[in-house]
Amino acid sequence: MTTAYCVKCKEKNAEMQDAKEVPFKRKGGKVGRAMTGIHAKCGTKMFRILGANA
Ligand SMILES: [Zn+2]
Repeated sequence: MTTAYCVKCKEKNAEMQDAKEVPFKRKGGKVGRAMTGIHAKCGTKMFRILGANA
């Protein structure tokens, strides 16, 4: 299960539904990875940046 912070619920480790990995532009032009999805409870879009070394 992927979790992220939900800005609407102000809930940490909120369950992310339909999580998928997307490229994420970092400072300096490097591309990192992030997860995007929706909060299972309220449907708000969530975004989580994955570690650069992942
Ligand atoms: Zn939520």
